[in-house]
Amino acid sequence: MKKSCFIDVETAERLAAKYPTPFYVYNEQGIRDGIRALNRAFSWNKGFKEYFAVKACPNPFLMKIIHEEGCGMDCSSYCELILSDSIGLSGDDIMFSSNVTPAADFEYARKLNAIINLDDETHVDFLAKHGGIPEEICLRYNPGGNFSISGAIMGNPQDAKYGMTEEQLIRSVKKLSAMGAKRFGIHAFLASNMIDPDYYPTLAEILFELAVRVNEKTGAKFTFVNLSGGIGIPYRPEDKAPDLDYIGAKVKEAYDRVVVPSALKKLSIKAELGRYITGAHGMLVTRAIHVKHIYKEYIGVDACAANLMRPAMYGAYHHITVLGKENRPLDHVYDVTGGLCENNDKFAIDRMLPEIVPGDLLAIHDAGGHGYAMGYNYNGKLRSAEILLKQDGTDELIRRAETPADYLATFDFCDIIKKELL
Ligand SMILES: *Cc1c(COP(=O)(O)O)cnc(C)c1O
Repeated sequence: MKKSCFIDVETAERLAAKYPTPFYVYNEQGIRDGIRALNRAFSWNKGFKEYFAVKACPNPFLMKIIHEEGCGMDCSSYCELILSDSIGLSGDDIMFSSNVTPAADFEYARKLNAIINLDDETHVDFLAKHGGIPEEICLRYNPGGNFSISGAIMGNPQDAKYGMTEEQLIRSVKKLSAMGAKRFGIHAFLASNMIDPDYYPTLAEILFELAVRVNEKTGAKFTFVNLSGGIGIPYRPEDKAPDLDYIGAKVKEAYDRVVVPSALKKLSIKAELGRYITGAHGMLVTRAIHVKHIYKEYIGVDACAANLMRPAMYGAYHHITVLGKENRPLDHVYDVTGGLCENNDKFAIDRMLPEIVPGDLLAIHDAGGHGYAMGYNYNGKLRSAEILLKQDGTDELIRRAETPADYLATFDFCDIIKKELL
């Protein structure tokens, strides 16, 4: 299947005239449509709510759009809480799903009255000391072993640092109840980037059954399960996008089977999707600046792994469209590389593409989730701008590009960095 590209060469050149490449561009309409499809798929569940995993794309302009579609924010650090606070969110618009949590982070989350998702049994006393125990609280579960869907292993919770065992969870619920907690939720995140539509239904059944068991053993009132993140996007042309309606309907089957006949009778469902919300709706636009022929053919572009780390870090596939050459034959084999002094700085290896010449603009697809967010400054490379393509076709700069002054700003105590150099 051919992957569609939400930006054409005219738009990209118009943007590049205003904002130097490389830059990230996000498609507002796509983000809104994706959230609407999710909310529709779970409309059968009263209280369904998606909390956008801020770490996937921590930009307050995008967070505002996502909030307008009815979502809260899932945070796991102090600065992610600041971002949510900055767009006016508090209370049950924030899920705080952290691990190895510093005291100040818990205190801030409690000040915002966010829903706390506790990663460990020992965090009960820690939270009591740093912020206090709220009336409604969520607990993160780790089932151990392997996690499989219809026999195929999809994840290894036994090796994951997150969550607690069932026994620990039961003890925590009892302890929290004694300390004043009245309503509970259960959370687990067992596999990521799952395009298998049975991920959520399988996880939901595990969490529904766990909530029923823990309720039977403790008498505690359970109000929600949090299916967390993990729904994937089709990075490769041959990948199939998960069918949200199927996912919603299958989770409902598990709900009707497990929750409805139980003493719980009902639960609301929460999600913390990140990649699904913004992943496919962001692209990294970069310009080819060099063509090099040695033992292989290299296209050198002005973006690098510091702008988009996933290919270097995970060997992740990101589709590339050479803008304006969409209909040319894919008759050249290239490695598309950035300029880091690291040989893994390659956006594509042995990729069939049309002939590329210096000056061509390349769109690197599906960079909207865990893309800009994972950026860094290695080799003195600067973070790029982020641009929003709005529903009415206009564009807005939603984050400026870093300058050398930003790179040097943390040396503010130091005379060597002369202001006139900047
Ligand atoms: C990363 C993360 C998410 C989002 O994951 P996606 O794969 O982007 O959907 C949600 N919840 C928690 C706790 C996470 O760590």
